[in-house]
Amino acid sequence: MPTHHAQLTPDARRLTPLRALITGGAGFIGSHLAETLLGSGARVVAVDNLSTGRFENIAHLAERQDFQFVFESAANETVMDRLVSEADVIFHLAAAVGVELIVRDPVWTIETNLQATEVALRLARRYRRKLVLASTSEVYGKSAAVPYREDDDRVLGPTTKSRWSYAESKAIDEFLALAYHKQFGVPVVICRFFNTVGPRQSGSYGMVIPRLVAQALKGEPLTVYGDGNQSRCFCNVRDVIKAVTALAAAPAAEGEIFNIGSQEEVTIRQLAERIAARVPGASREVRLIPYEQAYEVGFEDMLRRVPAIDKIQAAIGWAPTTRLDETLDEVIAWSRERGA
Ligand code: UDP
Repeated sequence: MPTHHAQLTPDARRLTPLRALITGGAGFIGSHLAETLLGSGARVVAVDNLSTGRFENIAHLAERQDFQFVFESAANETVMDRLVSEADVIFHLAAAVGVELIVRDPVWTIETNLQATEVALRLARRYRRKLVLASTSEVYGKSAAVPYREDDDRVLGPTTKSRWSYAESKAIDEFLALAYHKQFGVPVVICRFFNTVGPRQSGSYGMVIPRLVAQALKGEPLTVYGDGNQSRCFCNVRDVIKAVTALAAAPAAEGEIFNIGSQEEVTIRQLAERIAARVPGASREVRLIPYEQAYEVGFEDMLRRVPAIDKIQAAIGWAPTTRLDETLDEVIAWSRERGA
């Protein structure tokens, strides 16, 4: 067994199964990534403290020989030391998620995002492993210069507004990952996820689609924050996972940052109307809720958020293929099935 084979080459996969460690492996994106990696013949270890992840996301994998779940914080360096030493590649997804949670618990957000990444990078260096870092479109802040390019300037609000702590903490993660790459040659790849959506995403921490779908299924009014003219581009998690696994396998992606997102833009009000139209019996009432009521006084939202995806297209030929309506139907079917 080679001590490390940081490239996910087809050859390496054939000779010895790739060993992937996913921090945040019981989360929405992490659990989909685990399934895809297992499907490609990899062995997967998922570490998660279930702070926002859920065991039910990976319960169907738990009995497999090629899968292991470790109930632990990704910031626990002792446990992580062993897990990283036994992996070929680390997908570092463990982080605070959801604007609502971030505003409610900024201390936990900042500490979680910084500590777990420091540990993961230190160990990636020690064992010379590839590390794929999950970052976020939130780092662009409220810049109006859409579509956002990876090397754009960032426009953030003041430190008195806790929303921006998330962007700052993930930006520090990016700085640190790039610094480890530059100074110590650690093979890192940074993925800036834009709004990602699909089955298993929880509405408990703010995410709009699971919330609106749950409301539609219950026949309740759909809650739209602000005036509903703010827009987002929602990318299906399956498309996102294709991008992440291809980037992890691409040597040219090392030391680079990539936007991963859809360019199909929709305002939140249109989104609510489209969801209501797809759920028989849904209320057509859209209830506008002021931001200060939804989050906190002085809350700042971004009006538009659209990724430029030329860089990832050029690097690995990736573009999303799933239309929003298809994704909405998938989320509606999944939520209905689990009685959300
Ligand atoms: N939003 C909304 N109703 C909700 C939850 C969120 O109108 O019940 C809005 C939110 O203010 C934002 C957009 O939907 O403008 C997307 O929110 P989400 O938290 O899903 O992602 P964000 O883009 O803020 O990271």
